[in-house]
Amino acid sequence: RPDVLTFGETMVALRGSGPLKLGGTMEVSVAGAESNVAIGLARLGHAVRWAGAVGDDEAGQLVLRTLRAEGVGVSGATVDPGAPTGLLMFEPRLPDVTRVHYYRAGSASSRLTAHAVEAAFDAAPPRVLHLTGITPALGPAARAASRHALELAHRDGSLICLDVNFRARLWTAEDAAAVLRQWMPFVDVLIASDDELPLCLPEGAGGAGGPGAGRVAALAERAAPLLDLGVAEVVAKLGADGAAVFTGEGALHRPATPVRAVDAVGAGDAFVAGYLSALLDGEGPAERLERAVTTGAFAVASHGDWEGAPTRAELGLLGAPPGTVVR
Ligand code: ATP
Repeated sequence: RPDVLTFGETMVALRGSGPLKLGGTMEVSVAGAESNVAIGLARLGHAVRWAGAVGDDEAGQLVLRTLRAEGVGVSGATVDPGAPTGLLMFEPRLPDVTRVHYYRAGSASSRLTAHAVEAAFDAAPPRVLHLTGITPALGPAARAASRHALELAHRDGSLICLDVNFRARLWTAEDAAAVLRQWMPFVDVLIASDDELPLCLPEGAGGAGGPGAGRVAALAERAAPLLDLGVAEVVAKLGADGAAVFTGEGALHRPATPVRAVDAVGAGDAFVAGYLSALLDGEGPAERLERAVTTGAFAVASHGDWEGAPTRAELGLLGAPPGTVVR
């Protein structure tokens, strides 16, 4: 039984060094929320499979080759001859402003089939299914495939983890809420930024916290209706303020691990990898948060979406004083 099965869109990522319209050189890599999580988990020693779709093109080969090289199983991946692999370009426009341009409409990932997902489950039901709210936004086929995965995970007794990852470029908040609310009864571990939690709440539920209420207290109020629905753990990512977890036992907050930030992209996915890694190791909520803020901090302190993800042996590197040379 593999530890984790995940799928979603992984694109070729091109990174420029300045305004895109001026041309110049670009770095070529791959990027996708679920594959970032998969790589993070594989680096930490877990058995992970990725069952997304790519086009029958060189970009798709780069995606599969990268995942394979990182130790992520891709035997359940689909190569779709009828649609291209998606593409995104990062344009660093100002030191603190990066624009992202997507070329993903009609991509192979948007056409992922429920049949492919079913084959992945039948080959080896996982301990954990990890989904994001990006996949259902890609199109009706990917949405149906995600929904089918929830049903199969439920059938097979897999724990279901969902990272909301709302993408306003792909769908409206109303459309997202309509899908995510239906998904909640399946979800065991819900991970979201604090502003994404309302998308999951039953209509009319959950206040924004009383005036002057602390951030964690306000979040606890939003998490309560989700716990009532049967979600076992609601995890809120709070950026540089760290993260909090809400369970039937109460709330737990953990500050972020201080690091010199160089690239915030991918922090959320790295966080999820750390959280699920500790969960798979049988650790409790405090240890899960601890590993999650550690892997999140690694992502913030490294360039690229997943390149800086730590191995297990590297987890302790972050506390080192400035100028440390490891010989
Ligand atoms: P993204 O979508 O960019 O991947 P996100 O919004 O999903 O990010 P964040 O809350 O920004 O997720 O970051 C995830 C986790 O990474 C945080 O909970 C925190 O532990 C860690 N983190 C984020 N920013 C910082 C920072 N500046 N310093 C240290 N740790 C950070």
